[in-house]
Amino acid sequence: MTQDGQNTAIRNDWTLEEIKAIYYKPVLELIVEAANVHKEHQATGEVQVCTLLSVKTGGCPEDCSYCPQAARFHTGVDVHKLLSQEQVLTAAQRAKDGGSTRFCMGAAWREVRDNRDFDKVLDMVKGVNEMGLEVCCTLGMVNEYQAEKLKEAGLYAYNHNLDTSEENYSNIITTRTYGDRLDTIENVRKAGISVCSGGIIGLGETDEDRIGMLHTLSTLVQHPESVPVNALVPVKGTPLENQPLVTVWEMVRMIATARILMPKTMVRLSAGRERMSVTDQALCFLAGANSIFTGEKLLTTPNPDFDADKAMFDLLGLTPRKSFKEEAQHVC
Ligand code: SF4
Repeated sequence: MTQDGQNTAIRNDWTLEEIKAIYYKPVLELIVEAANVHKEHQATGEVQVCTLLSVKTGGCPEDCSYCPQAARFHTGVDVHKLLSQEQVLTAAQRAKDGGSTRFCMGAAWREVRDNRDFDKVLDMVKGVNEMGLEVCCTLGMVNEYQAEKLKEAGLYAYNHNLDTSEENYSNIITTRTYGDRLDTIENVRKAGISVCSGGIIGLGETDEDRIGMLHTLSTLVQHPESVPVNALVPVKGTPLENQPLVTVWEMVRMIATARILMPKTMVRLSAGRERMSVTDQALCFLAGANSIFTGEKLLTTPNPDFDADKAMFDLLGLTPRKSFKEEAQHVC
């Protein structure tokens, strides 16, 4: 038994062998196990609703092979500079009215620079925070000082995905290292900001890579409070434009394994949801997903809108999670 009387311990000492044994279970058995862990540690039927806004789109110097915003790929993405405070607050209000409790702002930067744009982002964070929304940012790499500034401005969470396994990382991105990613996650954690970090499947990685990424996430000193699981949305003009689409069963396997490894974490069904049926999504919720992005766009790719999601919630008997409900992680 754990200190809080739960039967399943929160562990950060998972071995690769243990994770493989979970990941490769027959899928229905895996779903049942994940659903049991979910029931024990999470409010079943409750789903966090987040909205993601691209506050600065395209022109990014990085070479993430999946990303339409990398300047070096010709994807026809609608490039724009940093939005104004007014544009952001209007979008945040729309998200709040649509039922979102977390508002995430993404900028296509390699890293945060200490300049006027960063000051503007800090103002945006303050403004959205004052609206009673959990504010999240994904701005690329941040150092300790910048993470502290974001925290002071009222930032609640910071997203920085690992994307894939350490072994596969250089096949996907060459302009930064896995270590750089982990350093930013550590800086965010030190500043007392909630960590959101997950990855993408369908990049051409192996099952071992998927297991490797889950191993890194689940053996961090403290599990990320949120783990987004994305399915690649192949975009014309990117090196991964011809990648085959992942199946719902692959998503379910990732989600269920993440749920079992990190019972207290919000597991977010992220990119790729747009082409999933309600039945597909219901399977993901059964397997332990309890967070989604809603709103018509996910940075630059299509996403189900508020009304479609409300209808799905009504059908499946799901309720939106209230904001600021996150509990501190307990790591044994
Ligand atoms: S994923 Fe982010 S860092 Fe990579 S190219 Fe796209 S915007 Fe730049």
